[in-house]
Amino acid sequence: MDKNALQPGSTIGIIGGGQLGRMLAMAAARLGYKTVILEPQTDCPAAQTANSQIIAAYDDAEALAKLASACDVITYEFENVPVHAADSLAQTALVLPPPAALEISQDRFTEKQFLNESGIETAPWRLVDDEESLIAALGALGGRGILKTRRLGYDGKGQVRLDSLDEAQARSALEAINHAPAILEGLVAFEREVSVIAARDRIGNVAIFDIAENVHRDGILATSTVPATISAQTAQAARSAAEKLLHALDYVGVLGLEFFVLEDGTLLANEFAPRVHNSGHWTEAACAISQFEQHIRAVAGLPLGNTNRHSDCIMQNLIGDDVKSVPAILSEPDAVLQLYGKKEARPGRKMGHVTRIRPRSPHQA
Ligand code: AMP
Repeated sequence: MDKNALQPGSTIGIIGGGQLGRMLAMAAARLGYKTVILEPQTDCPAAQTANSQIIAAYDDAEALAKLASACDVITYEFENVPVHAADSLAQTALVLPPPAALEISQDRFTEKQFLNESGIETAPWRLVDDEESLIAALGALGGRGILKTRRLGYDGKGQVRLDSLDEAQARSALEAINHAPAILEGLVAFEREVSVIAARDRIGNVAIFDIAENVHRDGILATSTVPATISAQTAQAARSAAEKLLHALDYVGVLGLEFFVLEDGTLLANEFAPRVHNSGHWTEAACAISQFEQHIRAVAGLPLGNTNRHSDCIMQNLIGDDVKSVPAILSEPDAVLQLYGKKEARPGRKMGHVTRIRPRSPHQA
């Protein structure tokens, strides 16, 4: 254990006020820590479970100074924290995961480049700045691909599919992303999508949860099922890639790495998130130690927890009007429910999730 591990009663700062911050604050409380949320929106999901909130923009200098002086370590719950804010905080406070992980993951170009340089295979991709480079990229990738903005794309936003070398189609795709700097990614005929939730502590130990199989609807995660229907070799390859990435980033905390799985079991990394991840929510119901506790342990300097899974499970996101099924879920005997304290259910808005567990079947990878 790190000799500078946080003592009970210490304070952890969390930048971002969404549901991930909410569940991190709950896990921190269980380990005897206090939490402070930095978030401009009042009554946000995280502030409802944390000890206090600093209501200010993520890069407000005065608010950052206040956060630094109030906290023993500072972490974040979303990857679009302004890098200059994280860097300036890091001059006076301990910021984990390291801000460099944020910086790399915020730009699909640096992200893919880092994955490839770390020996982790991705779909083929090309940089796109204008119509000429898009047409050239389409030519190189077989006339088909997904145009993705380099920055600020998530849950399928900022993406356009292209299926020919047609110039008019290329122009309208660039129009649709407001001519933002982009990459073109080869279209992957994947059989399934999986993700790994992995953690690294302050002294370099790694712990990895079982692989989840993910289904997206309208670009948003709908379900995560564990175990995934992949071979033991593919599961091991996913774990090794995550471990490589954690060490390459000199990472501390929990990270989510998403993959496409091809028919022959080949894995292509899609993206990574330097934070706890929606496809790891199942851990709170099917493991003794959740991804949230694991993250708090890592950044606080405590030893990582055991990642063994005691149950098989399916985690389902409750999106928009899905929350109407809560009364029925409450009567299910093996359903673990989390609601995020959001008052208004809007289409596409994640309102909560439910993990249905069943006894673990034998002989699993
Ligand atoms: P992303 O925002 O990159 O995570 O993409 C959202 C979803 O779009 C993914 O989970 C896939 O279902 C799909 N997708 C993204 N990139 C590709 C690709 N290169 N080939 C096929 N499907 C993709």
